Formats: sequence, C-alpha cells, structure tokens
Amino acid sequence: CGIVGYIGNRQASPILLDGLRRLEYRGYDSAGMALQNGDGLNVLRRAGRIESLRQLVAEKDPQGKVGISHTRWATHGAATDENAHPHLDQSGRLALVHNGVIENYHPLREAMKAKGHVFTSETDTEVLVHLIGQIYDESEVEDVERRLVDAMRSGLALVKGTYGIAAIHADAPDIVVGARLGSPLVVGLGTDEHFLASDVSAIVAHTRDVIYLNDYDVVKISADGFEVSSLEGAAAKVLVSRVDFTE
Ligand code: GLU
Repeated sequence: CGIVGYIGNRQASPILLDGLRRLEYRGYDSAGMALQNGDGLNVLRRAGRIESLRQLVAEKDPQGKVGISHTRWATHGAATDENAHPHLDQSGRLALVHNGVIENYHPLREAMKAKGHVFTSETDTEVLVHLIGQIYDESEVEDVERRLVDAMRSGLALVKGTYGIAAIHADAPDIVVGARLGSPLVVGLGTDEHFLASDVSAIVAHTRDVIYLNDYDVVKISADGFEVSSLEGAAAKVLVSRVDFTE
C-alpha cells in the first residue's frame, strides 16, 4: 500500500516512520521497516497500527542511515507479523517491500521450494524477493551494486502482475533500489540524501524536487545521486518536477 525509502546522512527510522504516517490515510493493516546496520539488516514489522511499529522501533532503537519501509494492505495472506513487509530472501541479506500483486507467484514459489527455498509468509511478495535474491546469489557480476540492479531486472522480467518496490541488500550498503509497473513510485532529491516513496506526500517535508517514475523504470539511489534506467537496461527519460504541495 505505502512505500518510503531513505538514504543519506540522517538516521533513517524517524524519517521512515514519519513518511509512513503521512500515508496512513490510504489505509493499511500492518507496517514495517528494514535498515542497513553495518554488517547486515535489521527488520522490524508489526501487524496493526504504525504506533505498534513505532513502539518496537523505540524499544530496539535501530541505527542506520539507509532503509526501506512499508504499510501493507493485504491481498495474499492475513494481516500478521509474518506477512508484514519487508520480506527477506533465502540468504537473509536482501529485504524488499512491495505494493501490488504478483499474479504468477504460485508456480514461481513451487519452483523455488523444489530448489530448497523456505518460505515464511503467505504473501505473493516473498516470492519476488526470493527470486531476485537467488538470481543475485548466482550472478557472476563483480560489482555488487550492478549485480543487485541486474538481478532485480532479471527477476522482474519473470513476474506477471503489478509492483512498486524498494529493496536493500546487506552487500551493497550505499544504495536503495526500486522499480515500478502499474503502481506508483517517486524519487525525492535532497542534498546528500535521496528518497523513494509511493506518494509525494510521504517526502514533501524533506524535498520538493521529485521524479515521478514511469512503468518499467528501475532506479538506484545513493546519498549523493540517482540513476534511472529501463527494465531492459537502457537509459530512461528523467524529468525532475517541482512539487507544489500545501500541508
Ligand atoms: N500483495 C502484497 C501483500 O499482500 C502487497 C499488498 C500491498 O500493496 O500492500 O502482501
């Protein structure tokens, strides 16, 4: 339902929580976030109110300047902690949040189960992260950032359905990646920080300079830059808009 991602010089968790709150009016049944923590990922998620996630964050006090977050409106699987996003791949090193529906998740999940993958939720989303993670782990591309973007492209080429996604990988702590097809995703441009969001209202408190991604766009953001390309790997058209938004 709602996506907020951050990379920059500030602590990510307050920015993510604030962004999720601004998307709250759209409705949701669960909320969660994943942060880079230096050598791995911290994942915090809860069925129910954003307030429950806020309490969990206050208790665990996760540190990290790179993260993704999500409010879920369940389509596949009940509103439980296990089904809340972010979901992890088999390695536990790739975390992903997803808006939309993966229509062919069932055959993909059966094929991956046959290869030994263990699924811990009932969501269509978990298939997507396992798929991208498997392609990443089998890849021979040396540059981890390119390997991640390439794996996302290859994985998305195999799915049918709709998605707005954001993902982080423990191997590539300096980027957040995203993509969209049939579900909105916006890039927010700041000074030494960048954002991803499913709606500008989540990030207008921080920046008014945004790029509305198009279907089949893939994006990589870092603290000091961004790169938009197409699902096929070609350069994509980028138009920076100035948001006129009254809070
Ligand atoms: N289909 C996904 C799920 O049920 C994502 C739902 C959403 O857009 O929030 O977990």
